[in-house]
Amino acid sequence: MDDKKKRILIVEDEKNIAYTLAYNIMQAGYTCDIASDGEEGLKKALTDTYDLILLDLMLPKMDGFTVCKNVREKLSTPIIILTARVEEVDKIMGLDTGADDYVTKPFSVNELLSRIRANIRRSAGEVVAAGASGTGEIIEIRGLKIDTSHYSVELNGKPIDDITKKDYEILVLLAKNPGKVFTFEEICSKVWGYDFCGEDEKQTVTTAVHRLRAKLESDSQNPEYVHNKRGVGYYLK
Ligand code: CA
Repeated sequence: MDDKKKRILIVEDEKNIAYTLAYNIMQAGYTCDIASDGEEGLKKALTDTYDLILLDLMLPKMDGFTVCKNVREKLSTPIIILTARVEEVDKIMGLDTGADDYVTKPFSVNELLSRIRANIRRSAGEVVAAGASGTGEIIEIRGLKIDTSHYSVELNGKPIDDITKKDYEILVLLAKNPGKVFTFEEICSKVWGYDFCGEDEKQTVTTAVHRLRAKLESDSQNPEYVHNKRGVGYYLK
């Protein structure tokens, strides 16, 4: 832990959850602040300084989705969404919302703390995400065009705009290094900032790659772009 404790903003209207979170977060060596509705959360996020924001989705006054978009317009503070609505995850993690990660309720404290550590480490620049830096690079591979300054992806001239941030980062990571096989561990570490890659994390990577293929490949059984090196990881041809 640094000399200065990392500060976390909890935006959660259910007091029991907020206090339990605050207790566990402080036990883990962070300091924290609680906002109990969306408007207060947004105001605190923009006027104070935090190392990470935990954001509930269903909030009074302003929903978490809107808070997230508004924070992201001004700040790059990592945002972890707390949600019970698993079906909303793709929408929440969309590039335009800019959320960095999510945990679904009910979650274990250990899982959440591990996500918090990973996201803080990642934002501190200890882990450089492939797509995170707006270097203004344009990568073209056959019909695939990625513009990293605009976070945009086009396939055969048609924009793919429902890609999530993590799926996009995997794509950029592979596309910047065509032919290089990235292991599950490398993808976990570079895209999510996780320092551990167990079965759950591998599954997260696999799911993201499947989502990505569904958007890029005309035949996902016989992919043109994202290839699998069996048991090792993925590469882009
Ligand atoms: Ca709520």
